[in-house]
Amino acid sequence: MSRSDGTATYDVIVVGLGGMGSAAAYRIAARGQRVLGLDRYGPAHTRGASHGESRVVRQAYSEDPAYVPFLLRSYELWERLQRDSGRDLLTVTGGLMLGREGGLTVAGSTRSARYWNLPHELLDSRQIRRRFPTMTPAKGTVGFYEENAGFVRPEAGVEAHLELARRHGARLGFEEPVTRWDADPSGEGVTVTTGKGAYHASRLVICPGAWTWELLADLDLPFRVERYVQYWFDPVGGTRPYGPSRHPVFIWEAGDGRLFYGFPALGDRVGGVKVSFLRAGRPVTPETIDRDVRPAEVEIMRGYLRPRVPTLPGGLRRASTCMYTHVPGEYFVATPHPECPQVTVGCGLSGHGFKFVPVVGEILSDLVVDGASRHPIELFDPQRTSVPAA
Ligand SMILES: Cc1cc2nc3c(=O)[nH]c(=O)nc-3n(C[C@H](O)[C@H](O)[C@H](O)COP(=O)(O)OP(=O)(O)OC[C@H]3O[C@@H](n4cnc5c(N)ncnc54)[C@H](O)[C@@H]3O)c2cc1C
Repeated sequence: MSRSDGTATYDVIVVGLGGMGSAAAYRIAARGQRVLGLDRYGPAHTRGASHGESRVVRQAYSEDPAYVPFLLRSYELWERLQRDSGRDLLTVTGGLMLGREGGLTVAGSTRSARYWNLPHELLDSRQIRRRFPTMTPAKGTVGFYEENAGFVRPEAGVEAHLELARRHGARLGFEEPVTRWDADPSGEGVTVTTGKGAYHASRLVICPGAWTWELLADLDLPFRVERYVQYWFDPVGGTRPYGPSRHPVFIWEAGDGRLFYGFPALGDRVGGVKVSFLRAGRPVTPETIDRDVRPAEVEIMRGYLRPRVPTLPGGLRRASTCMYTHVPGEYFVATPHPECPQVTVGCGLSGHGFKFVPVVGEILSDLVVDGASRHPIELFDPQRTSVPAA
């Protein structure tokens, strides 16, 4: 369809087709809307935040028990997406959170598990060594084990959402950066401009990840974009002890407060075992990020692994950078634009959001189609004055 000035028109335009935007495009198209999705790069690309073969999923959320209902719904939606797309997306391997007994990771996970009655076990260092022989925690380190934790595959997840969006009639345009958007003064529609032309829609959803400041500068959100590195090592002695049937995903809070995490060996084309640091990345922008990984950085990672998972840091197989878009408090943003009711904003997944993208897609589609969400989304409103107790 087009307007009298020749501008193609849609019900909804989704800008940014990464983790969040691909899920939103699918959910909105599945609600019968005519959707146009646009991305500055190709499908499931490696320049944003949704790449690197694996993302941790867990339910006993150490960050805040208020996330747990969203996680339970996300698990349901990952399983449904897996079925509908015929792709291998979610693998439950069990997950081990290690650290001091009163530390953020162990105490926070225990708090969520107890609050929501989620299955879990608490292990001392001897029990951890016996059960997971790749790990050599020092005396005094404890483990919170959650059988329902595991990982999802980010590129396959994005591709599955895009494929289902298409199946529901969405038109998807890649290598087409949006340069501006203008809300109609009537409050009814929006015009979106790209290098290739202009499009009109009744509603707009903006999910630009690390490029948020470009399209949402007017919101003046206190974002910080940070650089992180994903490292794949070839364990000394091979990957067998790291296979998904015997090795959990893990998050380890070291005595100095630094957090790192890792995955089982996926046995895929990349090979090796992936690890990365969590939080405290270097501030960057999508334009200035250094994509090269220095030997000194690899050595820092090795230094954390050697005393704790000694066979893991063998040869470095590969390393790849990624960006977190950090919001203070790490609660995401999934909310109507405060000035333009026809615009919905989804961003600020703060480095822990991939596991949530199906439910965030559902929230965004609720907001767009129904004007309100079935989920309690006060948590994801940057204007909130307090965080609701779980
Ligand atoms: C190293 C690393 C490890 C992580 N580990 C985990 C984990 O274990 N578990 C977990 O749950 N989460 C994890 N995360 C976080 C999670 O992966 C991200 O929060 C999530 O993928 C972000 O999705 P997004 O849609 O906001 O951003 P992206 O996936 O980056 O998507 C944004 C999209 O917008 C497009 N775009 C931007 N500007 C424009 C424009 N002007 N026009 C058109 N398109 C535009 C971009 O090209 C991009 O495709 C990790 C992140 C990183 C970097």
